[in-house]
Amino acid sequence: MTPVIALHGGAGTILPERMTPEQEAAYHAALRACLKAGLDVLQQGGAAVDAVTAAVMALEDEPLFNAGRGAVFTSDATHEMDAAVMLGDTRACGAVAGICGPRHPILAARAVMERTEHVLLTGAGAATFLAGADLEMMPPDWFGTPARRAALEAELERRRLNLPDDGDPARKHGTVGAVACDGEGHLAAATSTGGMTAKLPGRVGDSPVIGAGTWADDETAAISATGHGEYFIRWAAGHEIDARMRWAGQDLVRAAGDVVSELGARGGSGGLIAVDRQGNVTLPFNSPGMYRAWSDGEGRIHTRIFRD
Ligand code: ASP
Repeated sequence: MTPVIALHGGAGTILPERMTPEQEAAYHAALRACLKAGLDVLQQGGAAVDAVTAAVMALEDEPLFNAGRGAVFTSDATHEMDAAVMLGDTRACGAVAGICGPRHPILAARAVMERTEHVLLTGAGAATFLAGADLEMMPPDWFGTPARRAALEAELERRRLNLPDDGDPARKHGTVGAVACDGEGHLAAATSTGGMTAKLPGRVGDSPVIGAGTWADDETAAISATGHGEYFIRWAAGHEIDARMRWAGQDLVRAAGDVVSELGARGGSGGLIAVDRQGNVTLPFNSPGMYRAWSDGEGRIHTRIFRD
């Protein structure tokens, strides 16, 4: 079968009038390059897990997106990054939460999956493990960008003045993720994020929570979510899609689409990308836009930003 891959770079109030043509072009180019990094792995016969890792590493290095370099700041002006990876054939998975150090948080999640008997590491123990895991480390300053610093200052000022939230999660959120089905019909998902601007230090979002923002099972789907993480955790979004496919016999597009609209109706803005072992891909979102890209059955790359 033809392998397929999809990725997202965050969802939110992403509207054409808020973006210059140059910015829009830069996002399309970045989405295409990151998708190609993963697609190349699949086209050379690589495994889904290696393809999603390659795509997410490229997204983490792209400062336009909130993961790795370009991660948002906590209310203490620090970075706390979350990431997870999961394999559909064995349900092997690994995740990290609240880390700052590895250039590629997704490789930290893979190290947890491949080198420990655990699923999720956080805090001082995670830092000690990662320091010995032979990963490329970067100083905290490397992750921040002027745009993220400005977003933090604007949000702290808004809180100081007690002004209403302008409801633009795109300025505050973002996450990157990839899902793939390889030539053997195996699925994998990977997600990486800086979380939400001015989040309370210690806050963990949905991305590293297996069954919420990240999920993969060859019988159903590989899923990576983006959006208001607390909602995706409360509704176990990834596992909910799995359950509807497994027990209610729904197809990928319906199960994923319904879960995203139900989350939206409850106030949980965001979206997700999902793929099944037949190579079907769906990228539903309930916000005005979601940075996204996918490959089709002929290996062509498509990129989109707005609802169209
Ligand atoms: N889901 C991420 C979190 O809550 C943020 C986002 O995707 O916008 O940490």
